[in-house]
Amino acid sequence: MLLTESGLNVLVLDASWPRSLRDNRLRRLPGNLVRRLGAPDRSRPLPIPAAYVPKTRDALRMLGLWRQPIQSRCYAWQFAPDVFVDDHDCPYVTPPDRPFVWIRARIIGGRLAVPGHGRQYYRLGPDDLHPKDRLSPSWPLRPNELDPWYSLVEGRLGLSGMTDQIPFLPDSELSQHLTFTKAETALRNKIVARWPGARPILSRYAPPLETLEAAARTGRLRCRQGAIVRGIHVNGSGHVCGVSWIDHRTQTKQRSAAPLVFLCASALESTRILMLSRSPRTPEGLGASSGVLGRYLMDHIMVGMEGAGRHRVLRTAPDDGRCFYLPRFDARTLAAPNPAPGYNLQLYQFPAGWGETYFVAFAFAEMLPRPENRVTIDPHRRDAWGIPVLHIDCGFSEAETHRAREQAHALRELAEVADVAITRIDEVPRPPGSAIHECGTARMGNDPGDSVLDPYNQCWDARGLYVTDAASFPSQGSQNPTLTILALTARACHHALRDMNVEPVFAKADHGFPLQV
Ligand SMILES: Cc1cc2nc3c(=O)[nH]c(=O)nc-3n(C[C@H](O)[C@H](O)[C@H](O)COP(=O)(O)OP(=O)(O)OC[C@H]3O[C@@H](n4cnc5c(N)ncnc54)[C@H](O)[C@@H]3O)c2cc1C
Repeated sequence: MLLTESGLNVLVLDASWPRSLRDNRLRRLPGNLVRRLGAPDRSRPLPIPAAYVPKTRDALRMLGLWRQPIQSRCYAWQFAPDVFVDDHDCPYVTPPDRPFVWIRARIIGGRLAVPGHGRQYYRLGPDDLHPKDRLSPSWPLRPNELDPWYSLVEGRLGLSGMTDQIPFLPDSELSQHLTFTKAETALRNKIVARWPGARPILSRYAPPLETLEAAARTGRLRCRQGAIVRGIHVNGSGHVCGVSWIDHRTQTKQRSAAPLVFLCASALESTRILMLSRSPRTPEGLGASSGVLGRYLMDHIMVGMEGAGRHRVLRTAPDDGRCFYLPRFDARTLAAPNPAPGYNLQLYQFPAGWGETYFVAFAFAEMLPRPENRVTIDPHRRDAWGIPVLHIDCGFSEAETHRAREQAHALRELAEVADVAITRIDEVPRPPGSAIHECGTARMGNDPGDSVLDPYNQCWDARGLYVTDAASFPSQGSQNPTLTILALTARACHHALRDMNVEPVFAKADHGFPLQV
């Protein structure tokens, strides 16, 4: 969107493809059944008693094991199973004792366009970008450097939320200012009375972002679906010159030339493409010269809980994305969070058919970047298009597993305060990947010796190649990652345009955005 608005002609190559009607109906059947019979729908009351919700849903989800044993683990799979990949066509390999849940959607607009998306957007704070835990590297950014870019994308998103003035969770530019309802105020008061250090706030959320539609309106966008990118090409002077891809329909190899390439196929898929981009100059793949490509994989340590409220709190379903957000809930008894990694809680409420309220809560904790958590190209296995697949080797440390027990304990305490009868709680963390906040494996940095990307997300090994997804994250904080992905992308667009001597028009168009950055 930002590149087309500034006058560039852009070709989007996207692996998604529209399926035939018959195929769609068949693939939608399991999800439809789960949605109708076993889930607290946002708009419809539940047809079955609360105690049976998790078991009914799990039984029906077994239908998904047919083609999507991994994807059907995602809570949103039931809303549109056909936008998630077919696990048989798109396999990956893990060690038997280290499972990884890689949730992938091949759909125009990416996972943001998946029905049921959480829509949660939070900035990283100063301590997230420059961790003081002595275990995570600093991001190659000056203090507050990302602020204008956060503001730019927040304006485009049209964010709803409140001004919260929490030192470790910077406020956002809001388009809609929310206030607590009576019921939310009551729950908030109970939480604050129990824990002086808890800071329950309303979530910051936004409707789907229609960037490609906006780009199309400029007349400078071409979008090619069913284009499965498998490699990036670099010329003799180390500048990107195009990509190769496979046409899903004809299974033929294709090549597109371009002086500027943005790779944003999601963290692990982008790293896979970099690794497959081998040449005599880069025999291990693009960006591999530092030895860190594929390493430092992270995902939030996720623990979930659900249950039925004993009293009716809600009569109508809240907006999609509206929930309680409890930042750094690990510090609920302290005056301020300590520098060690922590966790936040998200608490959603839905009206339920039996006249009560159904609660779903997640605790997301920061995972540390460790070199042994890594992806490599599997030497044997290939996907349905003959492209080598990833071997993903990732696990939580003992300290992280211990923290997950604390997260479960915190969820139990919250259920007690909210007067919720728990119908399910995770006793152990879900496998890495389950939070769908995977990041790292092509990190950015100041030194080409220990990073894959420069401070503007540009590949040290290929000028003009920008990798603008969460692969670039050196660490992750405990906030959901997408707002930061968007801010980094906007900043990288600005840098690429200036590099090509093209004036970035979006900087002028966005109200309040500083022109000199
Ligand atoms: C149900 C759900 C809820 C979520 N809720 C939140 C939330 O509330 N807040 C939050 O911050 N994050 C959330 N996330 C995570 C968030 O969606 C991701 O962080 C974000 O979408 C990542 O963006 P991306 O562009 O890197 O990757 P994706 O969104 O995965 O987009 C990748 C794109 O690349 C295409 N592609 C993939 N491989 C290839 C290839 N080889 N060739 C060509 N094209 C390819 C895909 O078709 C897709 O269009 C959620 C995810 C899911 C699934």
